[in-house]
Amino acid sequence: MTFNELNIAEPILRAVREKGYTHPTPIQEQAIPVVQRGDDIFGIAQTGTGKTAAFAIPILQTLWDEKNSQPRQPAAAEGQAADDEAPRRKDRRGRSHSRDTGTRAIRALILTPTRELALQIDECFADYGKYTGLHHTAIFGGVKQGPQVEKLRRGVDILIATPGRLHDLIGQGTVRLAGLTHLVLDEADRMLDMGFIADIRRLLPLLPRQRQTLFFSATMPATIVALSRSILHHPVRVEVAPESSTVDTVDQSIYFVEKQQKKGLLVSVLKQEAGKSVLVFSRTKHGADSISRVLEKAGIHSAAIHGNKSQGQRQRALSDFKSGKVKVMVATDIAARGIDIKELQMVINYDLPDVVETYVHRIGRTGRAGNAGTALTFCSQDDHLMVRDIRKLVGKQINTVLHQAQ
Ligand code: AMP
Repeated sequence: MTFNELNIAEPILRAVREKGYTHPTPIQEQAIPVVQRGDDIFGIAQTGTGKTAAFAIPILQTLWDEKNSQPRQPAAAEGQAADDEAPRRKDRRGRSHSRDTGTRAIRALILTPTRELALQIDECFADYGKYTGLHHTAIFGGVKQGPQVEKLRRGVDILIATPGRLHDLIGQGTVRLAGLTHLVLDEADRMLDMGFIADIRRLLPLLPRQRQTLFFSATMPATIVALSRSILHHPVRVEVAPESSTVDTVDQSIYFVEKQQKKGLLVSVLKQEAGKSVLVFSRTKHGADSISRVLEKAGIHSAAIHGNKSQGQRQRALSDFKSGKVKVMVATDIAARGIDIKELQMVINYDLPDVVETYVHRIGRTGRAGNAGTALTFCSQDDHLMVRDIRKLVGKQINTVLHQAQ
């Protein structure tokens, strides 16, 4: 299936094409038509599956359709949001909601546990919605609220929020949700772990009952299932199985190494393996650049790809890597998604991933089609717990190497 077959409005399709996506991921294929139909979703999927686009694309689409099928209301007083007394109209699915009085009313709320996720989701709405004229912003704690309040005052259609800051701003009257038509609960199990469930329960009575709710969680412990039952209305279940097995053609090793010695170890491994095509994973964009600089100094030509590079730069780096012109590519997980290199010989986890399943996903890029592949993972003091989880998940032999500084 291609994106063209998913009945997505042209401005969104164009933006998706520009991102370089050609085919929807399995969760997108399942969820997009359900959201377009207006049904609730009970989704089992983790980060890395394309889950964000699975809800962002159809929400943008619905809001864009509404914007284009209804004349906009004349502007009213600054900061005034829709409330229950505002005139009501019917949307495409016959649902009634408040009129967009004055500045835009918040129509979609995406609740997510962490600031990083909030920013990442906001970036997705920016990317996929860039030709829709819809406004969005992210609010989260740990930073001054002034700039966030300012953006809210100017009006947003889509709000991405962590629960604590959302409650603060609702309490201050800056966020009003009476015009809401879409609610997304992202990473519900992580919200539970982080103690946000009470905040969510407190929020629910403040939302219009007539709304579409999309509920995503990587795991479904009993508390989460109970919560979903109290929130969802005849939901459609969508699910993508987490990757949990690695292929036997990949030889996996873990190098125990001091953090400060990782760069030296990387240089020596790459020199030993010169000529092989190697994909190096860094946790951050900044880290990827810094690794690439160290390699350059050591005479190893590499390309770095991450979210701060332009689409053109990424594509160039990728084609140089695929053609073998550049042998080493340093990438973040996000940027590396969608990279499909047929004969990748080695993957190096310079940093461990945040979620265990990502390990499987990363190393699955080598050892394809019966070719032999090697996966090396650098593990420093802080990573021991994650390595234990990886061993548990993979359940196969992983060699251990103790790296001593020369
Ligand atoms: P997520 O699971 O939403 O965090 O998405 C993980 C990564 O997959 C993000 O970097 C997206 O840009 C990328 N992605 C999402 N959908 C697609 C797609 N259909 N094709 C290629 N990459 C995608």
